[in-house]
Amino acid sequence: MTLTADSPITALRGIGPKKAQAYQKLGVNTLRDLITLFPRRYEDRTKFTPIAYAMPGDTVCIRAMIASVPRLNRIRRGMELVKLRAVDDTGSIEITYFNQTYRKDSLHQGETYIFYGKIGLTGQRRTMTNPVAEREENAGSSTSVTGRIMPVYPLTTGLTQRNVIEAMRLALDACPNDLPDALPTEILDRYGLAQAGFAYENIHFPADMGSLELARRRLIFEELFVLACAMGRMRGDRARSGGIRMSKSDPEEFYRTLPFRPTGAQRRAVEDAVSDTCAGAMMSRPMQGDVGSGKTLIAAACIWLVWKSGYQSAFMAPTEILAEQHDKTLRGFLEPLGLRVGCLIGSMTAKQKRAVYEALEAGTVDVIIGTHALIQEAVHFAKLGLVVTDEQHRFGVEQRSALAEKGHHPHTLVMSATPIPRTLALIIYGDLDVSIVDELPPGRQPVETFVVDSSYQARLIAFMEKLIGEGRQIFVVCPMVEENEELPLDLKSAEEHAVELQKALKNRRVACVHGRMKAKEKEAVMSAFAAGEIDVLVATTVIEVGVDVPNAALMIVENAERFGLSQLHQLRGRIGRGKFRSYCVLVSDSDSDEAKARLKVMKETSDGFQIAEADLRQRGPGDFFGSRQHGLPEMHVADLCSDMNVLEEARNAAQELLDRDPELEEFGNRALRAHCDRLFAANAERLN
Ligand code: ADP
Ligand code: MG
Repeated sequence: MTLTADSPITALRGIGPKKAQAYQKLGVNTLRDLITLFPRRYEDRTKFTPIAYAMPGDTVCIRAMIASVPRLNRIRRGMELVKLRAVDDTGSIEITYFNQTYRKDSLHQGETYIFYGKIGLTGQRRTMTNPVAEREENAGSSTSVTGRIMPVYPLTTGLTQRNVIEAMRLALDACPNDLPDALPTEILDRYGLAQAGFAYENIHFPADMGSLELARRRLIFEELFVLACAMGRMRGDRARSGGIRMSKSDPEEFYRTLPFRPTGAQRRAVEDAVSDTCAGAMMSRPMQGDVGSGKTLIAAACIWLVWKSGYQSAFMAPTEILAEQHDKTLRGFLEPLGLRVGCLIGSMTAKQKRAVYEALEAGTVDVIIGTHALIQEAVHFAKLGLVVTDEQHRFGVEQRSALAEKGHHPHTLVMSATPIPRTLALIIYGDLDVSIVDELPPGRQPVETFVVDSSYQARLIAFMEKLIGEGRQIFVVCPMVEENEELPLDLKSAEEHAVELQKALKNRRVACVHGRMKAKEKEAVMSAFAAGEIDVLVATTVIEVGVDVPNAALMIVENAERFGLSQLHQLRGRIGRGKFRSYCVLVSDSDSDEAKARLKVMKETSDGFQIAEADLRQRGPGDFFGSRQHGLPEMHVADLCSDMNVLEEARNAAQELLDRDPELEEFGNRALRAHCDRLFAANAERLN
């Protein structure tokens, strides 16, 4: 039987339904999946260390002859030891196997083996416990466990390294001519990249370090290249499909009605939108602005521009509270100019909704602000010209496009308060299409940030009393606790912490909001806080993408080490929004250097872009891609921090190719096209 990359792994010898289930947990169903299950790391078992030079604590390969007859010791039931002594020219070592009784008969005195394991020390004697062992003459072949660079795969219950290695050997041998290969030959040649066959062989069974490097480079390049092509094609599709040509209006006319002057960055972002929408191209513009940079105003200006040309706009926010808040703000900006503003959220009555549907379809509403409710089937627009989504990372790629599909190619503006490091932005957006709002409105007081440990509790309480006395409000953030997560002793749950704080702040109004509450309850508490009816709001990260409460002047983050940098930045963005001097206190008792470094970054900068870069460096891209944040596929081999050079190369290569063959129709580019399609199909599944 001939196998292809799409054959199920059960077609391989030794993989039955049980093993297949285990593989499934790793996302491996087909041979392709298996072949692209890359090692997490490698162990170099090619170099032998003379026993005398093997340092306690090191994990090494030694080549030694067994000098004693392996002896079996029964310590007690269920605990059997096999002990033996092995020697080389430089010294001897004591080897012990726990509960591997078969070693007594499989290892023979007088024969030479390769042992791989960690060196221990008992008295003066070197020891190894449960080392890998292999006859010298077997070492070095592609399924042997010593004498070569060993891959270490991610595992799950029911699978061993040996299982995966054996299956990998079979899989690679089964479809040598059907390996995943997205790179056109000319790209291979031009960038000096290895052939697919070589790359897959050596990523799994490296012949030596040099070959492994070549294999890695090829696969990283391929992964980034496919991503860049896929993103580029999506951009291209939209750009080519042509956009509604808006008539040119002067934003000054809008600015004149505002209570303040727009910042330079706001003006530039609006200019970007004007030039896109008036050129007849499709605007598909991400807008990266730090928290508090005034993105809502930019959206309002764009909505106004579109309205001047006779089109409707839709504005989608991730939560009802946010939608209501935007509704209020946008009404303030737009109604005085004559725009008719509507709001559509899930909690409205059926009758209210129907009225909104009718108005939208009749064109008697110019801008609609809402939640997911906007992508319901019943929603139709008379003349939709612009779709704005706020806090994009809360929406999947397909939710956004569902809204865009409501119109005839409306322009889109995606507002994100999670700055993406330049490295990622390069791939996701290309250079030109991003508007960056990197200026805060004047007069903002920077938030003063402190990092303290829990011995400051009493002082913090006093500080809270003082601020509340001055009329301010306070956020206290506790880490989210997963349903079944075992609570570390020192971890504060929001509810318990709220009870404690209420005891300490007897006459103050303390409330709690957390992820396990119903949406309605959450919204009620948040609204009460926004209305000033609560002094201290103890919350899990539900406030992260949150409401504007200019009166909140202090944020205390408990167990701050549990938060990622970007998350802390988002949280801190909730305060310092009004005219009051604001403070952020990060409480952490963690000794971890990594946690300390993270908190130090928060203390030292408030620039979202710097923080995002630091975050990417510290956490690695796994979190960036792995989480739903950006709606992007997961990376298997590429590391966007250290593989920056390859990234730029791959992106340029992708751009050049797409310029020439935008639909990837040339014969040599068809495999690439299939890979691009597969990338997003798989991703859509993951997001659902
Ligand atoms: P974000 O970018 O985080 O969404 P917002 O749009 O909510 O920021 O704006 C934050 C605050 O700044 C709002 O209260 C808004 O009214 C105010 N603001 C926006 N632009 C300006 C400006 N140019 N001058 C003064 N205040 C501004
Ligand atoms: Mg906002």
